[in-house]
Amino acid sequence: MNERYRGIAYDQLFLPRLTGPEIGELAKAGAMVILPIGAMEQHGPHLPVFTDTLIGEGILTEAFKHLTREDHIWLLPHLPYGKSNEHTGWHGTVTLSASTLLAVLMDIADSLAKTGFQRLVLFNTHGGNIDALNLAARDIREKTGMYVFRLDGGGLGDEKDLLTQEERMYGIHAGDSETSMIMVLHRDWVHENKLPNEFPPITSDWKLQFSNKRFAWLMKDLSSSGACGNAQLATEEKGKAILASAGRNAAELFKMMAIFSFNEKNGPIGFLPRER
Ligand SMILES: [Zn+2]
Repeated sequence: MNERYRGIAYDQLFLPRLTGPEIGELAKAGAMVILPIGAMEQHGPHLPVFTDTLIGEGILTEAFKHLTREDHIWLLPHLPYGKSNEHTGWHGTVTLSASTLLAVLMDIADSLAKTGFQRLVLFNTHGGNIDALNLAARDIREKTGMYVFRLDGGGLGDEKDLLTQEERMYGIHAGDSETSMIMVLHRDWVHENKLPNEFPPITSDWKLQFSNKRFAWLMKDLSSSGACGNAQLATEEKGKAILASAGRNAAELFKMMAIFSFNEKNGPIGFLPRER
């Protein structure tokens, strides 16, 4: 038996498990579809290259524990490749160009819109996808008229008391947080004898950061191990707490997105009535 598609998300709310006619009968005007976008890229000497996609699946599996069919929120299959050119040249990285990613997202959204879906979430767990997804979201809104939402898995969990300040500022790749989550999701895929501890040589008094005063970087500019963060601090307990809180927070946001609307009479932006 294929164990991959188990759990509430896949047993009840995975759109491709339905037949075409069943999807035809869905009340699409009130429905929302979540498209998860991940990556396949190097994640240091200790984590699988599928890490970002696995984390996306893990957060969504947790999120869907808080949703029912009455929420009319449906899950699409993961797009397991993203824009990962900051890791080009490292073994295991497979990247889409920004223009290819934008085109694929537009085609998926257009297919959904043409069969009546009006509400789409681009849910992402790879930092390198963020800029392209924000562009895609507005383009899809303009071209299809759909409501389009963006949600990123990074920082979605309640990590403040679990990660060091240094980790939260500079642990951007394959560090404590991601390693902890993969320990929960696929412990046997983590090489615990090779956990790196490497931070980029940026000091907090240097004004150019991973923020609004930024510099373009490639992973080889920041790290020799391919990781930024201290994976040696990772624990399964931490990973469970991050995944559970990220899932809970995602579910709460999905429920808000599912009833969000712009007021067509130019009134305040608000929420649709509950009954749909
Ligand atoms: Zn990652």
